[in-house]
Amino acid sequence: MLLAAGKSTRFNSKENKLLSKLSNKTILEHNIEQIKKIGFKKISLVINDKNILKNIDTSRLEIIKGGKTRSLSVKNALNNSNIKAKYVFIHDAARILNSDTLLLRLIKEANKKIYDCIIPYSKCNDTVVQNYKNINREDLKLIKTPQVFLKKKITLLHNKNNSLEFTDDSKLMRENPKEFKIKYMLDNGLNLKITHKEDLEVLKTNFARTTRVGLGYDIHRIQKIDKFNLISLGSIKIKSKIKVISHSDGDVILHAITDSILGALSLRDIGTYFPNNKINKNRNSLDFLDYALTKLKNQNFKISNIDLMIISEVPKINPYYKSIINSLVKILNINKNQITIKATTNEKSGLIGKSEFIACWSNISIY
Ligand code: ZN
Repeated sequence: MLLAAGKSTRFNSKENKLLSKLSNKTILEHNIEQIKKIGFKKISLVINDKNILKNIDTSRLEIIKGGKTRSLSVKNALNNSNIKAKYVFIHDAARILNSDTLLLRLIKEANKKIYDCIIPYSKCNDTVVQNYKNINREDLKLIKTPQVFLKKKITLLHNKNNSLEFTDDSKLMRENPKEFKIKYMLDNGLNLKITHKEDLEVLKTNFARTTRVGLGYDIHRIQKIDKFNLISLGSIKIKSKIKVISHSDGDVILHAITDSILGALSLRDIGTYFPNNKINKNRNSLDFLDYALTKLKNQNFKISNIDLMIISEVPKINPYYKSIINSLVKILNINKNQITIKATTNEKSGLIGKSEFIACWSNISIY
């Protein structure tokens, strides 16, 4: 039984927290997938909001309407479920099942057919203070879900129960430890419950990372001219006696970065999305980069680092190094320790060496 009927009131976002994404999937999708993968044939999904079902594969799911409180939701589901089972695993959907281990251990214990209730918990490693006094943390258990129950007994207890405000079902049995066979199971896995927006950030950092890399290269013809001209490099304007020949504004740095992001996302190159047509004539290269950054964001990737290499005889890059870095850090929303620009000349060799071209390589890592 997967409880997804909560209101996310402490989450501080308009969106239901269960629809928050981790590695391209919502928290709800992660949980349903994990439970199916482990071999559960039926899942009662308890919801109050049908929107939550968008994009969900509802095979093997039984949808049950939740109640006003968590305990009423469980009660509804226990009484209205059509699934026949001796044991029920009750799980808060806001608690992400990030590995098989916990579920497999619970299944193993349940299969012993000894316990009325199996409760996973973790130990408290912090000092806990109540009214200025320390509480002995050795006595503390941080109770988690999924919890396993003999279905008949927990249904009976829920039907007798009048207290609406409790946060886990094992309470109904824990209150009478002599009457029920209870097994506490230490779980050192992550299994963090998403309550506040910050919890999601913690989880994102801890969650299995996918790292990808991308390569971008751009080159433009330049022309020496008599008067000073402003050319775009890394979205800043540099005064130089050259002109960059380009359909757009000719910002080789932004073009190379854009291509490297597109590459890391397994997309096509910049020219595919922004061909040399009327709309793109003299276009600000920030538009191209914005396009790639939006794709990056939509796929829930972030930039890990960028390594840039500019190859040019003119203009000299070093005087502008800091300004270019500052500009890119702002555009890409990264820190200075995530980017570097190396500048080299081509030692007078080839067309770049003869100041006829300017080129840039971008190597990016995203996660
Ligand atoms: Zn270009």
